[in-house]
Amino acid sequence: MVRPFHNDHANASPYWNPGMETMPRAQLDALHLRRIQLMIRFAYENSPFYRKLYREAGFTPDDIRSLDDFIRLVPVIDKKDLVQAQGAGAPPYGDARALPEEYNLYRFQTSGSTGTPLQIPFGYYSSAQYGEQWVYGFWAVGLRAYHTFYFAFNWGTFAGFWSAYWGVRRLGATVISGGGLDTKGRINHILQSKPDVLVATPTYALYMAEVAKGMGVDLRETTIKYFYSAGEPGPSIPTTRRAIEEAWGAKAFELYGIAEVGAIAPGCPLQGGVHLAEDWAHSLVLGEDGKPVAAGEVGENVVTSYVQHVQPIIKYRSHDLVRPRYGICDCGRTWTYYDGGVLGRTDHMIIIKGTNVYPTAVEALLGDVAGLSEHYEIHVDTEDKSDSITVKVEAARGLPSEQYEKAAQEAARLLYKSIMVRIGIKVLPPESLPRYELKAKRFFDHRPAGKGWVMREGTASAPR
Ligand SMILES: [Zn+2]
Repeated sequence: MVRPFHNDHANASPYWNPGMETMPRAQLDALHLRRIQLMIRFAYENSPFYRKLYREAGFTPDDIRSLDDFIRLVPVIDKKDLVQAQGAGAPPYGDARALPEEYNLYRFQTSGSTGTPLQIPFGYYSSAQYGEQWVYGFWAVGLRAYHTFYFAFNWGTFAGFWSAYWGVRRLGATVISGGGLDTKGRINHILQSKPDVLVATPTYALYMAEVAKGMGVDLRETTIKYFYSAGEPGPSIPTTRRAIEEAWGAKAFELYGIAEVGAIAPGCPLQGGVHLAEDWAHSLVLGEDGKPVAAGEVGENVVTSYVQHVQPIIKYRSHDLVRPRYGICDCGRTWTYYDGGVLGRTDHMIIIKGTNVYPTAVEALLGDVAGLSEHYEIHVDTEDKSDSITVKVEAARGLPSEQYEKAAQEAARLLYKSIMVRIGIKVLPPESLPRYELKAKRFFDHRPAGKGWVMREGTASAPR
C-alpha cells in the first residue's frame, strides 16, 4: 500500500485525539458537567417540549450545578415522549424541535415497526460530529486516509451507515458504494475494486460469506482486511467475531450507535467491547430501581447527546443493556468501557426463576458447541409464571443428521453449566432459518406484554 502522506508521526499515534481519549476522569467529568449545563439551557430556551418538562419537574437550568443535580433533578425521557412532542406543533419535529428547519441538513426516521416512527434530524454540526465519533474507532485500529472503504449497504433509511460514511469522509479515506447491487454483484465489485475495509451489519457479512461460497469465491483471498459494523451486537461477542474473521480473513470491529442520539461508542481496538465517546455523549447506566448501577453491573444505558441540537436528546432511555467499566482500559483510553458491547434490549430480557438471561449470552455460548452454525432463533414463552427459552439452531454444514441430537444435548449442557438455566435446543438442517440483509430477527417473544426488564416508573425521574 502506497502511503501518500509524510506525516508519519501523527499517522502512527493510536489515538485520533490523544488528549480527549486519555483524559483523567475528573477532567472528563468537569467537561461533562459543562456540556450538560449548556445542553439543558439550550433545550430549555429553545424546545417547547423540554421547557414544559423541566418546568413541571420544578427546576430551571440554573439549578444544575453538579452531575449529581443532573442525576437527581432531570427527568428521564423515552422515545414515546419525543414522538408525542413531534405530534404537537409544526411537523416534522413539532415541540421537540430546538432549531428552525433551515439548520437541518438530513432527515431520517426510525423504522416505525413498534408504532409511529420517530423523526430524526441532523444539522451540519451534528452530522459532522456523528461522523467524528466513527473516526475514533477507525483510527484506533490503524485505518487512515490511504485506506478504501466498501459500503455493502443500500443508502436507505438506516442512519447508522450514513454516519459511518460521514466518518470516512472526515478521515479523508476513499468510499466505494455498494448501493444498488445485489449480494453477488457486491462480491464481484469487491474483487474488482479491491477495497481494504468492509462496512456492513454482522448479519450481512455472514450472509455474503454464504453467497460467496456458492459462487466459489474464497473471501479470505480478497483485499478486505478490516470489517467494521454497527446496527446489532456483533464483533464484541467472541463467537460472532470468530465467524466473521474466519469467513473474511479480516479483523472485525464494531461501533455502538443509536440513530437519534449519535454514534456514541466506537469499538475498543482490543475487540472485547466499546468505549463511550465522552466528548460528544454522556451515559448513565441505571438499574431497574432507576439508580446508577455499580461498575461491572448490567443496567439500561440512559444517554445525553452533545451533538444533537435540532432535536436535543437529554437523559434518553436507549433500552440497551450494557455493563460499564471505568478506569484505564488496556488500550490506554479512559473513556467508559461497555464490556461486551450491547448485551441485549430491555424488552428482550428473559427472566427464568429469578435469573436474568441475555440473548447475546446464549449466542456467545452456542458458538462454543462443535457442529452448530451461527444461525439461530431464540423463542421465549411463559411457563409456570417463569419464562422459558427454546433455541432453534442450524447444524453446521457437513454434520450428519444422526448427530443433531447429540449436538443439542451438548449445547443444553453447556448453557446449563454457564448460566444455570435449562434451555430447550432444537438442531435443524442448514438453511432452515430465514436469512436477513440488514439486521437479523433472532428474538421471538411469545410472552404476554409487559414482561422483561422494567425500570419502575417515576423512580428515575421524580424530583426529590
Ligand atoms: Zn479499550
